[in-house]
Amino acid sequence: MRLLLSLAISIFIFSCNHKNDEKQELPCSDAFSLINEEVIKHSEAYQNLQQATATIGHRLTGTENGNKAEEFVFSLFKKYGFSEVQYLPFEANSWLRLSVKTSINGDEIKTVSLAHTPVKADTTAQVIDLGSGLQSDFSRYSENIKGKIVLMNINTLFSDSSSMNLHRSEKTELAIKYGAAGVLFINGVPGEVLLTGTASVTGELIGIPAVCMSLESGNKLRERMVKGEKLQARIEMNNYSNKIMARNVVATWPGAEKSNEVIIIGGHLDSWDLATGAIDNGIGSFSIIDIARTFSALRLTTKRTIKFVLFMGEEEGLLGSKALVKKAKELGGISNITYMLNLDMTGNANGFNLYGRDEMMSFTDSICNIIKMIDSTFASNNSSSAGLHSDHQPFMLEGIPVLAPNSNMNKEVYNCYHSSCDHFELVNENDMVNNVRFVSMFLFALANTNTIPAKHFSENETQNFLIKHQLKEKLLLGKEWKWAVE
Ligand SMILES: [Zn+2]
Repeated sequence: MRLLLSLAISIFIFSCNHKNDEKQELPCSDAFSLINEEVIKHSEAYQNLQQATATIGHRLTGTENGNKAEEFVFSLFKKYGFSEVQYLPFEANSWLRLSVKTSINGDEIKTVSLAHTPVKADTTAQVIDLGSGLQSDFSRYSENIKGKIVLMNINTLFSDSSSMNLHRSEKTELAIKYGAAGVLFINGVPGEVLLTGTASVTGELIGIPAVCMSLESGNKLRERMVKGEKLQARIEMNNYSNKIMARNVVATWPGAEKSNEVIIIGGHLDSWDLATGAIDNGIGSFSIIDIARTFSALRLTTKRTIKFVLFMGEEEGLLGSKALVKKAKELGGISNITYMLNLDMTGNANGFNLYGRDEMMSFTDSICNIIKMIDSTFASNNSSSAGLHSDHQPFMLEGIPVLAPNSNMNKEVYNCYHSSCDHFELVNENDMVNNVRFVSMFLFALANTNTIPAKHFSENETQNFLIKHQLKEKLLLGKEWKWAVE
């Protein structure tokens, strides 16, 4: 009953124009059917990603590969008929790994350097085990940390599984604050998997070395420490860093009625260098391009303007999205950004996370009910929890409503996050097709509804929102808290 009622309301609210039928108004469900058919028959998301990973390889920001990736997606937007495609250049600190050697009591163990670690380091110190590396662990060992190399999990320990984990960069920031000489991270994934990623909360180089070892190596070290053995670690590393230019790529689909209201659908194109970043974030960024292709192929009319944005520099600390938000503030366009949808490692969308904007729930449920009519396998798995550390963050901190599709992929896919197994073989073509058709439908509805329930927050409302969602501590550690600290 509730379903029937909400469907009736949705169809009444949404009128979806389609250019082939001048002036004839179509209900959303008709537009969704067109989208569905177009994507199932003609999606090129999987093939484009395959081509990019085969011909370019990784897409690390500021490298020749990164450059090639920017040009590759620019030409795809052009090929799909977008007349307004722009590069938005920004300056950043590049970081490249050269070599790393980590030894424990003289025996070498396999590690990878985390990004933004020093250009050169050779540090030897006693190892101290801080378990999950949460604030409570640092407080407990406070006096003993200075001058030591801290050992901690990337994930939380099983016994801490109820506490909210911190990002690796936040844990490293705590280590620096407590005077540690270096950081040894233990990965959470079994199978000798090494994880990279930034250790810096700002994207600037940090002063101490930080590396990641496998779960198996970490467990062995802990067994030795439990038996009372004192461990000395030596971390030698060489990295390279320089100022570089990178480019976000933006393709604009102009709105027909409310063209100054802009919906951004974005995701990061850049990847780490250990593999090809097929999952993080090839599946998200190449889905966005195919959503753009779908809108263009069907010549869909939308009330609002849509900007399809591929960010660079996300992995180094959201550099591209921060640059875009900064530019929009300087040019006075920030108030025009009505909504931001972020696709980061989104494959097989099965609903939407509203990031704490609960006022969007009934709208989202009603759209998802229409999607379910088109395809009954769509789970309509909607949720609302706010978090950090992807390209939605700079928008959220400006009070702009953000959301992301919820995603459902196999565990082995997630296990290759930031590691050397993030290759194209992990990508499932059907998942990408689902991603493109369901997110296209939702985006179409959002761009056409008369009134979007979530509005921009004022500075004060944003502050209260972040506190309510327990993000203040993390933002303080990340040096992103812009309000006074009492
Ligand atoms: Zn990512």
